[in-house]
Amino acid sequence: MTDFHLHSTFSPDGRSSMADMARAETERGIKHICFTDHVENCNASEPLGFEPGDFYEIREAYFASIAETREMFRGRLDISAGIELGGINHDLETAAAITALDGLDFVIGSVHNNRGKADFYFIPYESREECSELLRDYLLENIEIAKSGLCDVVAHIGYPLNCMLARGFELDLSVHTDTVRELVSELVDRGVGMELNVSGFRRKINDSEPSMWILKLYRELGGEIITVGSDGHDVSQAGLFVDRGFSMLREAGFKYVTVFEKRKPRFIKI
Ligand SMILES: [Zn+2]
Ligand SMILES: [Zn+2]
Repeated sequence: MTDFHLHSTFSPDGRSSMADMARAETERGIKHICFTDHVENCNASEPLGFEPGDFYEIREAYFASIAETREMFRGRLDISAGIELGGINHDLETAAAITALDGLDFVIGSVHNNRGKADFYFIPYESREECSELLRDYLLENIEIAKSGLCDVVAHIGYPLNCMLARGFELDLSVHTDTVRELVSELVDRGVGMELNVSGFRRKINDSEPSMWILKLYRELGGEIITVGSDGHDVSQAGLFVDRGFSMLREAGFKYVTVFEKRKPRFIKI
């Protein structure tokens, strides 16, 4: 098994060191991981609800820590170096500069906030209509990210749903099926991958991001580049439910999972 979405203390919301996260992953039977700490440079002028930080300030220490952890676990666990890059479409120039940096194996493209809005986590939703509109814009922003071609996979499609549920609004992306289809077609046509993020199984929503029907749609339309991510932020979450993600891949008809090295996909039989 592989886990290609993982945070450490290099993320503002990460709570465990790289070495501790790597150890927890081996204990869950994972063989290849990728650290993907948050990079929010593209959202520097967006009202996120938290400090975006500056990747350039931590970059050297970040890559050094990954290299050190890689040495520590050599022969037991493969470790790739990635980032979770927020808001690529909000600042394409900055995104292009960051994704061109040496040393990156993998880039996750994430929409955590729509343009001009706070992170979905911080929005005090007031109506279903508001949620539905935000979801449509969210999908359109994911399409922009796919079109940019700057990331290897688009992350956790459906991320806002759990945030909305937490405020009492239960929605599904099927309220915008046509836009979902447009997004999935865009990924397939451009050869941009999809992430199957299983962190929702430890949240109230108890579903993957994306849900099974979107995963199946991606496969049906010819999508092959798929990574699995626990999105763990501490040792209790590292690699958690990745086994369930792999079962979902098989059920959806995937024969391979994807890992990335030096931004190139490699396909591993499952
Ligand atoms: Zn994310
Ligand atoms: Zn994440």
